[in-house]
Amino acid sequence: VKEEGKNNFKIYNGMLNKFTGHQLTFENELRHALKRKEFSLVYQPQWSIKTKQLIGIEALIRWNHPHLGLISPSDFIPLAEKLGIIFSVGEWVLEEACKQNKLWQDAGFPPLRCSVNISIAQLLHSDFPKIVSNILKRTQLNPKFLELEITESIAIVKEGYILKVLNRFKEMGISIALDDFGTGYSSLKYLSQFPIKRLKIDQTFLHEKSIINESIIRAIITMGHSMNLSVLAEGVENKEQLGFLESEGCDEIQGYYFSKPLPPKEVETLIRYYSPL
Ligand code: C2E
Ligand code: CA
Ligand code: CA
Ligand code: CA
Repeated sequence: VKEEGKNNFKIYNGMLNKFTGHQLTFENELRHALKRKEFSLVYQPQWSIKTKQLIGIEALIRWNHPHLGLISPSDFIPLAEKLGIIFSVGEWVLEEACKQNKLWQDAGFPPLRCSVNISIAQLLHSDFPKIVSNILKRTQLNPKFLELEITESIAIVKEGYILKVLNRFKEMGISIALDDFGTGYSSLKYLSQFPIKRLKIDQTFLHEKSIINESIIRAIITMGHSMNLSVLAEGVENKEQLGFLESEGCDEIQGYYFSKPLPPKEVETLIRYYSPL
């Protein structure tokens, strides 16, 4: 929380320099960003380690402010959550991602799974399942191509309600991935109860190379497989990391070594060359 505060302060200061004499604040800019159409989505490809094929994409939000430039989601998502803006922003992300994927499918591209990051506040909101089903109805995207990425920390809040909501998504045909796995507090008990399809190993285990972190990655893969979950490693940046994950039997990978998050046009070029069909 301290860290976030620091970041916002840094940006806020930068902003004051650019808007001297104005009463604008970072918060206010964020409040207006959606209706000013300053958000966009980029998509990062996800690959099968075994077949080396493109199997999915993760939608990641970008905020392009006319004066501040490109602002990272780590710098505004926490604030959007605090201000309650995350509900409208999150709904926009979902709709945009579903719409784009339906467009690609209609254009004849082989269908890909599309993952969307969901904040805990969104997941806990009683309207959320309805919002998701309405978006699927509006966009006509087949739910089996939608995956919701939720962070592991959901396991410590309102487990009963979360279990109900996740089961509802499962019934709708939507899959769930547990993001940043290994950094939160989820107990093995919840892991076995929740209808989860995929574990995404937190990238810090890969980036901070050590015997311990390698053991953790190995343990997550083994545990995931024993629970019939698919395991994805994110943040793969080099050949050595790929080799390690390959030898440990990790299922899927995502990272700069293969591709950065890309704007829709560049995704199209990529799908043409790498898709499974
Ligand atoms: P995340 O969901 O864990 O996403 C992975 C982050 O790692 C992304 O950063 C991605 O660009 C970055 N990344 C991918 N490959 C590599 C790599 O090889 N090396 C390194 N160092 N980084 C890599 P990004 O796009 O800046 O997003 C940061 C976080 O912001 C996300 O972490 C997610 O928690 C949040 N976020 C992004 N988009 C959304 C959204 O639409 N809704 C919500 N609620 N959160 C979002
Ligand atoms: Ca994610
Ligand atoms: Ca992650
Ligand atoms: Ca994260």
